[in-house]
Amino acid sequence: MLIGLDLDEVLAALMPQLIEYHNYLYKTSYVFDDFKSFYLWKTWGGTRKETDKKIWNFYDSELFDDTLPIEGAREGIEVLAKRHKLAIITSRPQEIKGKTQKWLRKYFPDKFSAVHFAYNFSHGKGKSKKKLAICKDLGVEVLIEDCLENVMDIENVSSKTKVILLDRPWNRSRLPKNVTRVFSWKEIINKLNE
Ligand SMILES: [Mg+2]
Repeated sequence: MLIGLDLDEVLAALMPQLIEYHNYLYKTSYVFDDFKSFYLWKTWGGTRKETDKKIWNFYDSELFDDTLPIEGAREGIEVLAKRHKLAIITSRPQEIKGKTQKWLRKYFPDKFSAVHFAYNFSHGKGKSKKKLAICKDLGVEVLIEDCLENVMDIENVSSKTKVILLDRPWNRSRLPKNVTRVFSWKEIINKLNE
C-alpha cells in the first residue's frame, strides 16, 4: 500500500534543534514538554508573525542543517520500504525544498517515491493543498503524522485514509475516528503489521 509520512517530528527531530536555537538566541530555557500547542507562539509568546520570522531565520541556521532523525525512524523506514510505497507529505515551505531533499538523501536515501509540500497555516496560502486532500488524491491508505490539526478533518475529507498519530506534547487531546495514537516507531511498525 501507499503510506504517507510527515517529515518533522515523525522522521526529523526538528523541535530539539528549534528549542536549542530559541534558547540560545532569546535567552530562554524551554524544554520539549513545554510545547503543549502546535502553535509555537502560544508557548514562547509574541505574535504569530514574529514566530514565522523566527522559523524562517531558523531554517537558515546550522542548527536546522544539523537536524537528526527521530529515534527508530531509520530502522522503521527500512522495514516499511520493503513492503510498501512511501511518500513524504510535509508542511515545510517550498523555499527549503533543496535543504529538505539533501537531508532526506543523507538519512533516507532512495526510500521515498515523492516529496509533497502541503499547505501550512503560515505560508503557501492559495496554491498548496492540505495534507488530507493530497492523501486523498494520491490514494494514501495510512498517514503517519504528529500534528492533530492537520488530520482533525479526516472524517469529512477521506474515508480511505487512516492516520497513525505519533504522540507529542502538542497533540494530547481527543482523537477523531480513524486516528490512532502511538508512542514510538516500534509501535508504528507493529500497528502496520496488524
Ligand atoms: Mg510534523
